[in-house]
Amino acid sequence: MTSPASGASGAADLPDYAPVPRSALGPALNEQGYYVGRVQRNLYWVTDGVYQSAFLATPDGVVLFDAPPSIGGNLRRAVDEITAADGVPNTVTHLVYSHHHADHGGAASLFGGDVTRIGHAETRRLLLRDGDPARPVPEITFTDTYTLQVGGDRVELAWHGSNHSPDNIYIHFPGHDTLMFIDVVNAGWVPIYNLNLSEDVIGYMDAPAIALSYPWTHFISGHLGRLATRDDVAIHQAYIADIEASARQALATVNPVPYYIAGGQNAWAGVKGHLDAVTERAAAPVIAKYTGVLAAADIEVFTLTTTFQIMQSLRLDRGPSGPVHP
Ligand SMILES: [Zn+2]
Repeated sequence: MTSPASGASGAADLPDYAPVPRSALGPALNEQGYYVGRVQRNLYWVTDGVYQSAFLATPDGVVLFDAPPSIGGNLRRAVDEITAADGVPNTVTHLVYSHHHADHGGAASLFGGDVTRIGHAETRRLLLRDGDPARPVPEITFTDTYTLQVGGDRVELAWHGSNHSPDNIYIHFPGHDTLMFIDVVNAGWVPIYNLNLSEDVIGYMDAPAIALSYPWTHFISGHLGRLATRDDVAIHQAYIADIEASARQALATVNPVPYYIAGGQNAWAGVKGHLDAVTERAAAPVIAKYTGVLAAADIEVFTLTTTFQIMQSLRLDRGPSGPVHP
């Protein structure tokens, strides 16, 4: 099979990207393709090297936090492995949705009809909208905070505004020195396209400071192969702050006039020329600075699209979008 873009060898033609920093990689996966490890005491995390889930193994049953379909049936294997070793029941009694997205909740239906599902009220609304049988709607919902107590363990769920999605919540384990907060910081890696496919730019940019306002040592970020630290969140914040500063400077220094003159009657051609120039000028120093620091920083389209989103938010949310016509 051939395609005009990639030629006969297809995906084998990937460019020579910078090596993934060793610090970005996690533990080896087992032969079934997963790793399960202890976060602290009876809180465990599971990864397939790209996605992450977590569970509490209590004397009264297992509480599962997210069910990414890419881990899928390996969640059951990981739970069975740990509960057998700990001598506690392997029944999943509760499932908490971090947010409504299918890539983190699409294996929720694997855990039977007796599971109590918990999520933000907006998660329920969005799941009702989306009508995906793989993601049964949560029966227990909350709008601001919810305390979950199972088998002597306590988990504090909280919503502090929209960020990656309108319903993305903070999951704090005060007895396990851990915070779970999905799809904002990738442990050791840059965000993928458009601030990790986020809907609310300002909310996304402000979220790491909220995460850091909690007391914790271990951070379950939802992506890639290892747990994160407070330093990982700080490096992510620095990357985003550098993009913001660079975008602000590029907006102030790239002269739009030649692009609009070149566009002539085609106003959108002028817009494209101007905004592409601002984006490229803003992103270039950030890509250079973080290559070798955050994995995939040299996959330029990620930083370019994130820069574009932040640059647009600076114009549209923060303002001004441009000079006021006299
Ligand atoms: Zn998501």
